[in-house]
Amino acid sequence: MGEHHIENNKVVNDSLDSFPCGALVTNSARVITYINSYFTKQLLWQPNDLIGKSVDVLFTLSSRIFFQSYLIPTLLHEKVCEEMQLIIFHADGRRIPITVNASLSANGCIYWSLFNASKRNELYEELIKTRETLEIQAEKLKLLASTDELTELLNRREMKYRSSLMLEQAARSHYSVSLLMLDVDHFKKINDTMGHLEGDRVLKKLGQLLKGFGRKTDLISRFGGEEFLIMLPDTNKSDTLLLCSKLHKLIAEIKVGDSSLTVSIGMSICDEQISFIDLFTQADNAVYQAKARGRNRTEIYLDNS
Ligand code: GH3
Ligand code: MG
Ligand code: MG
Repeated sequence: MGEHHIENNKVVNDSLDSFPCGALVTNSARVITYINSYFTKQLLWQPNDLIGKSVDVLFTLSSRIFFQSYLIPTLLHEKVCEEMQLIIFHADGRRIPITVNASLSANGCIYWSLFNASKRNELYEELIKTRETLEIQAEKLKLLASTDELTELLNRREMKYRSSLMLEQAARSHYSVSLLMLDVDHFKKINDTMGHLEGDRVLKKLGQLLKGFGRKTDLISRFGGEEFLIMLPDTNKSDTLLLCSKLHKLIAEIKVGDSSLTVSIGMSICDEQISFIDLFTQADNAVYQAKARGRNRTEIYLDNS
């Protein structure tokens, strides 16, 4: 009977030693009474370093504080605790993150299982890094989706979206909005005589000029090929016209071969609710007028109906 019992104990101990985690028992005074061989084989502790010692010796200072102030009270209250994150020492002094589960028995003994969480921590850090990278990429994509690559101004889609919002806001707050459509004069000729690259350089230069020109609240976009749209909130007719004449002067400073760059501007202004497409059509008509009247000038859309 006694021999059978000893035999059984050996089977149990061998089994516990085969578990891929630390198994540990402490008595009611938190003194270690049992360790499986995970502690000696994986963490290289000598049995004497741990058996008969306070379980505190395993923990780093911060883990010891957490252990005493949170884990033990939880355990006394709940009888179990699960997935607590602590740091223990390897016998060589290295810090090993572990996940701890424990249960309290009626006699005050605590049964502990300790899982090495190094990989989990590495994966978690990798996950965080990946998330940061994704967030940065998402920002870039958002910018790419809303800006024109050549000029870095708002692209057509973003301009339509933001202009509509601006018009709604203006209707609610009762202020006027001006829309300018700029179309480069004889741009095709620049391409034809000086090449597409020179054409691109001119567009980029014009884009930079426009970007640096307006107020922060203005919407400035490359709406298509050599056409630019500028929406000015809360700006009246005479201020807008003044702005246009400044624009003509500044744009003339962009040289293309021996000549100055010129644009034709169509302007439309609204002080009551209007859709973007209607305001746009008006500015487009005004550009057509400016072209017909000799280019390098601004025309205002006049409602003749
Ligand atoms: P107008 O004074 O009547 O506006 O004449 P225009 O030559 O400027 O107008 P048109 O619409 O005939 O030509 C516009 C040209 O713009 C045609 C097109 O090849 C060129 N274009 C459009 N997008 C780009 C671009 O991204 N780069 C370059 N280099 N050219 C472009
Ligand atoms: Mg055009
Ligand atoms: Mg043109």
